[in-house]
Amino acid sequence: MARVAKKEKAGDFIKFLGTAGARFVMIKQLRASGGLWVSYKGTNVIIDPGPGSIVRCAASKPKLDPSKLDGIILTHRHLDHSGDINVMIEAMTEGGFKKRGAVFCPEDSTGEDTVILKHAESFPEKIEILKANKSYKLGEFEFETSMRHIHPAETYGIRFNMGKTSVSLLTDTKYFKELADFYKTDVLIITVVFFEPRPGIDHLCLDDAEQIIRLTKPKKAILTHFGMTMLSAKPHIQAEKLSKKLGIEVLAAYDGMTLNF
Ligand SMILES: [Zn+2]
Ligand SMILES: [Zn+2]
Repeated sequence: MARVAKKEKAGDFIKFLGTAGARFVMIKQLRASGGLWVSYKGTNVIIDPGPGSIVRCAASKPKLDPSKLDGIILTHRHLDHSGDINVMIEAMTEGGFKKRGAVFCPEDSTGEDTVILKHAESFPEKIEILKANKSYKLGEFEFETSMRHIHPAETYGIRFNMGKTSVSLLTDTKYFKELADFYKTDVLIITVVFFEPRPGIDHLCLDDAEQIIRLTKPKKAILTHFGMTMLSAKPHIQAEKLSKKLGIEVLAAYDGMTLNF
């Protein structure tokens, strides 16, 4: 009975193990780059375990145990999203001794220039290739992929339900107006790398995020994946401004931030 009570107490949550966006914030670790841990009805998933993800799990309060992972999702192969993929695979499979868990990633994360080491490929029960606009299931956790994003690597955002609350993660992309069609959810987690527009680089800036929030009208929008210019502009101040302007709750994610459901 005690075990049941403990499990119920943990509940369903999403924890930010990192809020760094793009290269320099990651390299300097001005923000951590550990990805998002999602725990839903006892199924544990890590999305985009960037560099230091395993360290962030161990430093997390309460600790997150990567050997309890059921799955790993990569939205795309860039290092700030995939740096710790191999160590997470090892953790999930008890050092490769126990065949378990699933890895979901776009096709270009595997193959010739794979981000998953050849020796680790056979550790999980399956490696499933993500395609645009498809549904996937992992234990109790189900998610859908978005349309293909405009980004140098093959990239998909995802959408899932935490009980009655729909959540989406809009990962790296250049802005295009059809994004709003997929990301209409109660909670929208959105990557905002640049404070000001940087034409020619396939990332969102704050104006793009504003436009997407305006179009998708979430109950709560959470800005994350900050580049240097966003950090200088103080994300929490920018989030407050957007909240006032749009009449929608907009928050700036911080390392260790937890959303409970
Ligand atoms: Zn990124
Ligand atoms: Zn990227």
